[in-house]
Amino acid sequence: MTGAPGLPLTPDVVVVGAGPAGAAAAAGIAEALPGLPGLPGRVLVLERQPEATGHAARAAAAGAVVRAEATVTGWAGPRALEVTTPQGLLRVDARAVVLATGARERPRAARLIPGDRPAGVCTTGQLRRLVAAGQGVGTHAVVAGTAAAAVWPAVRVLRAAGSRTVLAATTDSAPAGWALRALAGVPTVTRCRISRVIGRGGRLQGVEIENTATGQRRTLACDCLVLTGDWLPENELARAAGLDLTPGGDGTPLADTALRASRPGVFAAGTLLHPGWGSARAAARDGVHLVAPVTAWLAGRAPAATAVPILAHAPLRWVTPALLRPGDPPPPYGGLLAWADRPLRLPRLTVRQDDRILARRTLPPRPGPVVPIPWRALARADREGGPVHLRVTDLTPR
Ligand SMILES: Cc1cc2nc3c(=O)[nH]c(=O)nc-3n(C[C@H](O)[C@H](O)[C@H](O)COP(=O)(O)OP(=O)(O)OC[C@H]3O[C@@H](n4cnc5c(N)ncnc54)[C@H](O)[C@@H]3O)c2cc1C
Repeated sequence: MTGAPGLPLTPDVVVVGAGPAGAAAAAGIAEALPGLPGLPGRVLVLERQPEATGHAARAAAAGAVVRAEATVTGWAGPRALEVTTPQGLLRVDARAVVLATGARERPRAARLIPGDRPAGVCTTGQLRRLVAAGQGVGTHAVVAGTAAAAVWPAVRVLRAAGSRTVLAATTDSAPAGWALRALAGVPTVTRCRISRVIGRGGRLQGVEIENTATGQRRTLACDCLVLTGDWLPENELARAAGLDLTPGGDGTPLADTALRASRPGVFAAGTLLHPGWGSARAAARDGVHLVAPVTAWLAGRAPAATAVPILAHAPLRWVTPALLRPGDPPPPYGGLLAWADRPLRLPRLTVRQDDRILARRTLPPRPGPVVPIPWRALARADREGGPVHLRVTDLTPR
């Protein structure tokens, strides 16, 4: 294997991904490393994009080496990575690995929407890349998704690119008020999904829209269809490592409240853990949260060997973090994040461990699938007891 000039191959910590989560983790760890804080090369950030985002500047200022055009393609050992760069292949051996690889929206091919396969159909991420590259995105667009909160960012990108959104369609029945306000001026329908894509000569001509409550269908002309939401974690590296995945989840790595993954010395942060949830600031909070557990690991302080699993029951599908260890801090979100199989209008939560009810409380209505579980609902959990069970009843009839 050959090395790229200036790239440390044996950093203390390697961070994969220079988004808000990875950059915040790298900056915080570089600043906190004992002995020689800020010494260049102790923290290495690998980012596959040609340029690391603005977030990475703080990591670099703190002494982390940020390397763009460096794609991690696999593992060469428990904390060793294989990296592809324009200069060739590298092997990076670290003492700790932080996975902050983010999430992506499910592409059209995986959404099983029938119809033609014309150009002009994209996800929000693809739309952003097209706009950034100065490519045309049409003049009249339909934006579709599971929640208005996921639809409006695409509408905003389209507006900036000079394309009009002729319809925002969401499968949700009662979108959040703030999201509807953000969509002001855009024709918006709820309880609607795209049931067919219509194209001719390789170009998008329109879409068929189905009202999921009545089954009624209509067609609408458009030259751009943006499919939003429906996030999946970028978990190829987590899978390749054989990391445990969150039970019932969409492939997010199983993490404890300190954001440790199942392999010692491997950590996870950002939307890799909570795809589609939270702002850039929230992802960065994960990165900051990791600093103490990563530096503790580097100092040879192992976490408690036992962990209490936290289990989500229907209509909840999964929860993150899902392990509670003695001595660990609360998670960075003020509690846990649970994913429901549908928006819950008036969720009534029951938390149980062994034969004890730890908490019973009504939670605020949720517009989307994510139900924040307040940390105080788990305050009485015995961290050496049996599994903690989360159950939710929706008090509002569907
Ligand atoms: C359309 C849209 C608009 C948004 N607008 C806002 C907004 O206005 N304000 C806001 O706060 N938030 C916004 N968000 C949300 C915000 O972008 C995310 O919350 C945030 O980027 C998540 O940070 P992250 O670090 O977890 O992941 P990401 O930002 O996705 O970073 C992950 C990084 O890992 C890299 N990577 C992945 N795999 C590898 C690999 N194998 N090797 C090397 N590198 C790899 C990726 O290239 C990527 O740069 C928006 C999101 C979308 C989709």
